Amino acid sequence: MGDLTQNFSRSEFECPCGCGLDTVDAELLRAMQDAVFYFAMPTHVTRVYCWITSGCRCKRHNRKVGGEDESLHLIGRAADHVMEQRLFNGQRIIVDTDVLADYYDRIFPNRYGIGKYPDGRVHFDTRTGDHERWDERKPEEL
Ligand SMILES: [Zn+2]
Repeated sequence: MGDLTQNFSRSEFECPCGCGLDTVDAELLRAMQDAVFYFAMPTHVTRVYCWITSGCRCKRHNRKVGGEDESLHLIGRAADHVMEQRLFNGQRIIVDTDVLADYYDRIFPNRYGIGKYPDGRVHFDTRTGDHERWDERKPEEL
């Protein structure tokens, strides 16, 4: 149970450097919560965990991790995350990068930013204006 939505807590989005930045966009939260509900729908799925691998970033931390100067992470409108499904038999499944990214693209065609990264990580942001799609996986993983 989260303190912001059913599945998300503010602390999960906090900048990891210790600066305390944890302001997160309402639109981002709603979209990600809806994604959790969606991936929890199949009857063989008992629970879904959405692991935030990078949420809010202050300028200093953003520089440290090589983020772009205009990164949406700086203003709490972006989160990199992995979606994990737990099945009735205890099995854990990381939702495939393409499947997760395609889900957001289907819900928000021609909107927002959606990036694909290795290990099931997907960047999702609620940018204003032109949308963007990108793929940062290594060629052998494509
Ligand atoms: Zn920070």
